[in-house]
Amino acid sequence: MTNKQTAIKVIKRLSRNGFQALLAGGCVRDMLLRRPASDYDVATNAQPDDVIKLFRRTLKVGAKFGVVIILLEDKQVEVATFRTEAGYADGRHPSVVKFTGAAEDAGRRDFTINGMFYDPVKEKVIDYVDGRADLKKGLIRTIGKAKERFNEDYLRMLRAVRFSTQLGFAIEPTTWSAICSNAKKITKISGERIAIELEAILVNPNRSVGASMLTKSGLAKAIFPGFAKKYSEFAANVLDQLRKKVDFALALASLFAGCPTEFACQRCQILKLSRSRNKHIKFLLTNRGKLLDDQMALSRLKMVLAGPYFQDLYELQRAIQKARPDGAEGITALTRLRKKIRDLGDVELRPKPLLNGHDLIRLGAAPGPGLGQLAQEMYIAQLEGKLQTPAQARQWAQTWLQKHKIVQK
Ligand code: ATP
Ligand code: MG
Repeated sequence: MTNKQTAIKVIKRLSRNGFQALLAGGCVRDMLLRRPASDYDVATNAQPDDVIKLFRRTLKVGAKFGVVIILLEDKQVEVATFRTEAGYADGRHPSVVKFTGAAEDAGRRDFTINGMFYDPVKEKVIDYVDGRADLKKGLIRTIGKAKERFNEDYLRMLRAVRFSTQLGFAIEPTTWSAICSNAKKITKISGERIAIELEAILVNPNRSVGASMLTKSGLAKAIFPGFAKKYSEFAANVLDQLRKKVDFALALASLFAGCPTEFACQRCQILKLSRSRNKHIKFLLTNRGKLLDDQMALSRLKMVLAGPYFQDLYELQRAIQKARPDGAEGITALTRLRKKIRDLGDVELRPKPLLNGHDLIRLGAAPGPGLGQLAQEMYIAQLEGKLQTPAQARQWAQTWLQKHKIVQK
């Protein structure tokens, strides 16, 4: 069974038991647009206790706010009781919810295109908020007064940019001007939540349009203090040059392509990303320009190639060159690099060192930082092809030890 079929099964069981139950929100929008929906949510006038009684396996984590998760077959369906919300003191979470009917539930939703219901039994769209008209016009418009709706929950400003990017819809002028005048307040939203929306915007193929909206609205500067106009203009050009499908780390590095690395990495801290993601971004930004160096040592090239981020670094550099008016020379350098890599053939990029630490100590090296330096220099010589056998490596190490005098006493 698909997610949709499972949700419909839930709806039919609720209906048979005398409740009103409908598909709600994003999935209705996506069905009308004939795009695949990410999840199928159910809204109902049944109270959480009623829902729990009707299904054998449920998760009650959000029951207080009217949300019950139903486990059916191998799927999960979110069933939410029609509700209104009030008292958003923190600019994000309602402090009071009240169970109501479908029309009022539509009114608490963010945008008209997200505020529709669908009755799969009668095969009818139920639209209290003129969502269908805006879907036809390709418009993102808040339900109710834009200023008020954003002041309840500032995250909605980023959601507007996200939906506009993903759907290729324009943001309706009053909604847009409310975003621009409230952009600074986005800092009330946690870095983690901002990151989720930013990721959805930047991994989308339409990312450069999304990034321009973030800049023009003032959201980009509010999220990343000091993100100057010259940075954002270059960012949009670089984002425009990336291939369609990219990882969030590459997209973020591209957003910061015109900024100093330290500035960019500090700003990324705001998003509370994982350590590996931060490392990925830092690698890409630190190594900007390095692939253009025709003189790059073979050992260094092999190390970069063997690392996990080479493809992304190449892609970032290619996009940067294409975004720069004087980037043609760099493109030629990248093409030369590709050829050099092809010529390397099947050579192993990260071979095992010819000698390990124990071998070096046995040759008389004293344990300590000197030993690390010896091992590293020897490995570079190995990658350069200067050392090919353990015997050659032993001789090379002995010469090195005599020269550096770090032998055991
Ligand atoms: P996606 O395809 O990305 O899942 P979606 O529209 O389904 O988009 P969700 O975040 O899954 O978005 O939320 C489901 C529905 O809940 C939305 O369509 C909207 O009606 C409502 N909603 C979600 N977040 C908010 C919010 N911050 N304020 C008001 N309504 C919201
Ligand atoms: Mg959804």
